[in-house]
Amino acid sequence: MSWSVRFKDLSDFGRYDANLMAFCWCGHKGVLDAHKVGRWFYCFRWNTTFEMLGMHLRCSRCGNHPKRWGPTPFPPDRPEWMASEQNWARLVRRLRG
Ligand SMILES: [Zn+2]
Repeated sequence: MSWSVRFKDLSDFGRYDANLMAFCWCGHKGVLDAHKVGRWFYCFRWNTTFEMLGMHLRCSRCGNHPKRWGPTPFPPDRPEWMASEQNWARLVRRLRG
């Protein structure tokens, strides 16, 4: 796998089996499960264009949007996030409100 590929959309992460790493202004960084992020964006009907991802991501430490983000081969550091189908069912129910 070449990491020089240009990631243009969230769907590219799945294609290259990559996760999403985000770097915040405060120095905090996190790895998100790109598959779950894709599902999350789909639920909210958000734009999954690579450049747009940051406006919907928030730092778990300071609440800011990340400074930059990109693909990573590392596993997600919060695997418990949206880990069960009940989580997703609850989200969909909330969005239908
Ligand atoms: Zn932060």
